[in-house]
Amino acid sequence: MQSSIETMPWLVSAWRYVEDRLAAGQLPHGLLVSGAYGVGKSRFAHQVAGLLVCEAAVRTGRSARLVACGQCKQCELVAASTHPDIRSYAPEKSKMIRVDQVRQLSEFAVGSPRVAQRKVIIVDRADQLNINAGNALLKTLEEPSADVVLLLLQETGRPVLPTLRSRCQNLALPLPDFEQARQWLAAELAALPDQEQPAEAERKRALRLAGCAPRRAHEYLTNGFLEQRREALDGFRRFMKNELTVAEAARPFRTMGLEPTLALMESWAADLARLGAGGEAVDEDAAEMLRYLARTNPPWRSHQLLDAFRESREAAVYNASPELEAERLLILWQGLMPSRRRRGAAGSG
Ligand SMILES: [Zn+2]
Repeated sequence: MQSSIETMPWLVSAWRYVEDRLAAGQLPHGLLVSGAYGVGKSRFAHQVAGLLVCEAAVRTGRSARLVACGQCKQCELVAASTHPDIRSYAPEKSKMIRVDQVRQLSEFAVGSPRVAQRKVIIVDRADQLNINAGNALLKTLEEPSADVVLLLLQETGRPVLPTLRSRCQNLALPLPDFEQARQWLAAELAALPDQEQPAEAERKRALRLAGCAPRRAHEYLTNGFLEQRREALDGFRRFMKNELTVAEAARPFRTMGLEPTLALMESWAADLARLGAGGEAVDEDAAEMLRYLARTNPPWRSHQLLDAFRESREAAVYNASPELEAERLLILWQGLMPSRRRRGAAGSG
């Protein structure tokens, strides 16, 4: 079930922007919807698409927000995910979007809508468009039919090609505050059977680790991530103390996958930077280890790690052996242990 915009109060100002532009007949052909992973970009975009095709949008709620009626023929097709004038494309994780996939979208954009007043194309993760795919999409943005709207979704911190960015109106989605996120999460989790309901402490932990990005917290609670993360952290700690081999320590990270591994290690490196600057760690479970590393390392080491993770992410698209990457990254971390450094800096780096 898609939660409506009413249940996502942190997205209301962005919604109002769309509403106002629509009412003024000035909706841009290209909208770059940006925001943190798990903030609700995809749901927002699908709600917008629903509003754009609805024949009888209605005002609702205290603030008289304009929303899809949910009754008309168009809304029925949207609810069944079979609307012929809405095309949504989401690439596989860490994979670039292929040119032929974009060409299909561009072909879809040509010609009149089949049943609605407009066509809507959603590209989830426009930051995964490479130059060739971007250029293929550019044509659609440069010579837009009057009745086509492109919603490009961009994850914060992942660059989108400047040629695409410059042809879109940017719409940034903010994160909710803790209470908004907690309420949304509670409503979503209510659908689970009783025995699968996560405890309150786990919910709070997930929200904290997700930086209040509600979809991300939901993922953490429902895909076994918290447990995997505990095992990965345990392996990490013991590897740093030389109690495990790198292959043993890397196992839970490999189970987790490269993207979550990078995200987790990035969050630790960011905590290390915070601690080095006299701040507090966000990840309480890793804090003790990280405090030790912050005491024994100059602050630039954390930035060096963050750079390495960024490079690893960029290379991930072409990486032939992602399973070895976890080991390589763990060895980078171990280079921060004072005993390792004394034994010789020759091989590290
Ligand atoms: Zn409708």
